[in-house]
Order: sequence, then C-alpha cells, then structure tokens
Amino acid sequence: MFCDIDRVLIPADRIAQRVRELAGQITRDHVEPNLPADSQITIVPILTGAMIFCADLIREMPVRMKIGLLSVSSYPGTSTASTGPTLQANSLGEIRGRHVLLVDDILDSGETIKMIVPLLKDSGAATVKTCVLLRKDRPSARAVKADYIGFDIPDEFVVGYGLDYDNYYRNLPDIVTLRREILDRTGSELLKSTV
Ligand code: 5GP
Ligand code: MG
Repeated sequence: MFCDIDRVLIPADRIAQRVRELAGQITRDHVEPNLPADSQITIVPILTGAMIFCADLIREMPVRMKIGLLSVSSYPGTSTASTGPTLQANSLGEIRGRHVLLVDDILDSGETIKMIVPLLKDSGAATVKTCVLLRKDRPSARAVKADYIGFDIPDEFVVGYGLDYDNYYRNLPDIVTLRREILDRTGSELLKSTV
C-alpha cells in the first residue's frame, strides 16, 4: 500500500495539530456566550470519508453532543471525478431544534454540502454549520461557504485519513497523492495489488 504513494501532502502530525486547533475553535463557538450551555448539539459526519476526521475531532471537543450519520457517495468505484452525490443511508436521529455541525472530509465540487445543508434545515435543525478538513483550490469549492476549514490543498486527487480510491487507502495516516499508474488501473487490478 505504501509503495502506491506518489507524495505526502499533509503528514499525520500536521493533521493532528490542525484537528486540535479546529476542535478548540468549534468548542469555543458552541459554548456560552455563543450558545447557551444547554444547547442541543448534533455532529453529523458524512460517511465514509469523514469517519476518521470526525472521530479525532470530537474527542478534542469537551461538549455534550449527539452523533447523527449520513452516508453519501460521489466517486463510485475507481472514478477520480465526482459523478454527483447520492444519499446512501440516513441515520440522523431527531435534529429538530438542534445545532448541527456537518463534518466532511473534503470540499471539491461543493455538491455534497449544497445537497445536505438544505436537508438538515428541512429536518428542523436550529442552525447548521459546516466543517471540512480539506478544501481544494478550485472555484467551485471556494464558492461554497464552509464555517471551518482545516487545509487548503491543490486541485489534485488525494487519499488517506479517511479518503479513498475505490474504497482503499482510507487507513493511511497521512494525506497523500497516488502514483499515476495506480489511478490508471482498473478496479480488479487494484484489488490484486492492495489486498
Ligand atoms: P464535493 O461534493 O464537494 O465534490 O466532494 C465531496 C466528496 O467527494 C468528498 O466527501 C469525497 O468523498 C469526494 N472527493 C472529492 N475530492 C476528492 C479527492 O481528492 N479524493 C478523494 N478520495 N475523494 C474526494
Ligand atoms: Mg465523502
């Protein structure tokens, strides 16, 4: 798996440091005087990509919270360009009147956030804020508002720390780019090389 890496864009220690900073900022915004102490907060990671980021983020946030889950797929199989998000599963729980923080791995076309934020508002959320670990350097990503952003990165296809290629590489601790040959392979060839 490690020999498939082209270059490390963000190493694990820098991710950890930035996640702690984001958690501090979000926590401050979600305690008094910004929100009353009894505020009902729900954190909503977009699965599967935001799983690892969200797990690290919330363990640095000493606030009372519930977790709701949404599963969205945008890059089926070995595609490295978005085919548009589709909602695969919804396990949000009751969010009526709650302050919702949507957590995603990366802001790229912006279509996921544009689809999910109205869904959360229509479900009765009192407020909806968005947090993304990465934002790509492209106009579509900058055009969509995110309240908390971890890193701005070049417009390249990245994997690791939850992000996948054909559902692989999510367990890499760093955020990396893959070698061209890997991205050019078909799904079945990739399967042979990564198991
Ligand atoms: P958007 O809806 O903003 O285009 O992108 C959101 C989703 O597309 C992300 O949650 C992520 O799953 C996927 N995505 C976008 N860019 C990348 C990328 O560079 N690498 C990977 N692995 N997934 C990406
Ligand atoms: Mg995703």
